[in-house]
Amino acid sequence: MPNFIPFHCATIGDAEVQEVSSVLRSGWLTTGERAHRFEEDYCSYSGASHALALNSGTAALHLALVALDIGPGDEVISTPLTFCATINAILHTGATPVLADVDEHGNIDPASITKRVTPRTRALLPVHLAGRVCDMDAIWRIAEAYKLHVVEDAAHAAGSSHHLRPLGAASVSRSQVTAFSFYATKNITTGEGGMATTNDPALAVRMRALALHGISKDAWNRYAQNGNWFYQVLEPGFKYNMSDIQAAIGIHQLKHIDEFAEARRRTAAAYTLAFRNLDELETPSMSAGIENSWHLYPLRLRLDQLQIDRAQFIEELRARGIGTSVHFIPIPMHPCYWNWPTLAAEHCPRAMTLYPRLVSLPLYPSLSEEQVERVIEAVEDVAVRNRRPTLVASGSSSR
Ligand SMILES: *Cc1c(COP(=O)(O)O)cnc(C)c1O
Repeated sequence: MPNFIPFHCATIGDAEVQEVSSVLRSGWLTTGERAHRFEEDYCSYSGASHALALNSGTAALHLALVALDIGPGDEVISTPLTFCATINAILHTGATPVLADVDEHGNIDPASITKRVTPRTRALLPVHLAGRVCDMDAIWRIAEAYKLHVVEDAAHAAGSSHHLRPLGAASVSRSQVTAFSFYATKNITTGEGGMATTNDPALAVRMRALALHGISKDAWNRYAQNGNWFYQVLEPGFKYNMSDIQAAIGIHQLKHIDEFAEARRRTAAAYTLAFRNLDELETPSMSAGIENSWHLYPLRLRLDQLQIDRAQFIEELRARGIGTSVHFIPIPMHPCYWNWPTLAAEHCPRAMTLYPRLVSLPLYPSLSEEQVERVIEAVEDVAVRNRRPTLVASGSSSR
């Protein structure tokens, strides 16, 4: 379809293209000057004390949990409405993932967390779904009461703020680690990539070593201190470092982080304004202000008002040239997790009832006003044409 509006399209400028080609021409392709600059820039932007550029958001989550010594016998509480990476990162440490339920926004519900805490619980892993910041103050209170670590999955939330500061900021954050993703579809991108921020200097040192095989210094230091060839492996680490090719993109993407969030916020507001009076649709709450970078626009169908289900709704939009997605297929629905009683659907009834209603609409900075208008018209058309006929109360219709 020539005029198809895809669910996602990355916004890449000339500066990114030029920086990547100068990395390619420089002869130094792996972690180096640009990766370090990206980390420094991320610290300046976020107000976090330490930032570690990594090759994915998944790596950031796994590294955080390992560096916090979470492993077999430990439990980590997370959310059912997330990408599998969140839960897999817990499983790969040998710890047991435990599901709490979600609140009205689809974020982990603090009240439900408290019910799932056991003597084995070591950490909480909230996910800022769609860019909307979780109730972190309540989550930190629980963490402090039960002496738990907090690792934030901020894969959707680069550009979101909490108490007027970007996530991870030393002046606000009481989490041990905040993990960002720069995957191709995320708020800012390096193609593949991630960042772990922390305000704990010892944790920063441990994560940095673990991110590169457990080596005490990285290749860049060896190169920079020309002649210093000696290194030692302190513990078996991973290969999680970000290359300078990726960082070259990230440095320039980061300059646009607030502007991108603002563009998403404007489109989200236009969607909500258009849809909020349609009985067939429920719009996400707009109240969060800059606490939402609007990574996604999760529209909710009122299935009792429609004669079609979510799959048909998506198909009708596709037929009108609009790409959509669903965030997320709840964790209990994947066969991979069926052996884990702590991940069963019974622990998250609200997530399971929300799921069949969710449709994510196109939402990215390069969407034109005309494209936004086309999405709105298509969604309204599908909703109105498939409206469930109002039943006339029995008895009153007899002639
Ligand atoms: C994308 C995503 C991740 C993983 O990030 P990658 O950079 O793709 O590894 C983790 N959690 C959530 C909620 C995500 O959407």
